[in-house]
Amino acid sequence: MSLENNIKELKQHIPEHVNLIAVSKTKSTDDILEVYRTGQRVFGENKVQELVTKHETLPKDIDWHMIGHLQTNKIKYIAPFISLIHSVDSLKLLKNIDKEALRNNRIIDCLLQFHIATESTKFGLDLEEANQLLASEAYKNLNNVRIIGLMGMSTFTDNMDQVRQEFKFLKKCFLEIKNKYFYNRNEFCEISMGMTNDYQVAIEEGSTMVRIGTLIFGERTYH
Ligand SMILES: *Cc1c(COP(=O)(O)O)cnc(C)c1O
Repeated sequence: MSLENNIKELKQHIPEHVNLIAVSKTKSTDDILEVYRTGQRVFGENKVQELVTKHETLPKDIDWHMIGHLQTNKIKYIAPFISLIHSVDSLKLLKNIDKEALRNNRIIDCLLQFHIATESTKFGLDLEEANQLLASEAYKNLNNVRIIGLMGMSTFTDNMDQVRQEFKFLKKCFLEIKNKYFYNRNEFCEISMGMTNDYQVAIEEGSTMVRIGTLIFGERTYH
């Protein structure tokens, strides 16, 4: 199977209203270009250095999404061009994104990452922490970031009932937060959930963005 066939096949299973983020971490620019030529324009990466190099090398009409854990001191490298940061998990990070966005005369779109899995290794806020962040004066003073939704990663398991419950929980959090803080604002509309192994369940549970790597590019090999 070619990458072109992989993505065409995958797109048949993804409804119009769901945005496909092609997760290209560890993959070569040639592989990314092959997928780009099918019309795909949104790519996701989880490491700042790799993201910067690929942004410099590849066509400028690609929308780059940061999907991995982001360190405060590295925001400045992606702030000039990043389209969406999926992985905001603290007020401190959000404040620093705001600062770098201002420096670049931009407004940067962000998602709040929620911890919905049972594994403690995964990053993210719980509902109480998200409430604290959104209710804070400090957040209200940020003019160069825009929170447009939530992101979550399910537990790595074959138990799809468990995965479904986790996605249901994220949807519930999304609605609660929308009602409390964004009730009159249409921009808060994204739920980023679903990867290669669980994107179909995620779509059934209300995902608006699926982040898919392996199914498009094949298995990753780490060196
Ligand atoms: C790697 C990664 C993905 C894609 O994973 P696949 O299983 O290859 O589809 C999605 N989201 C995040 C945050 C990732 O790090």
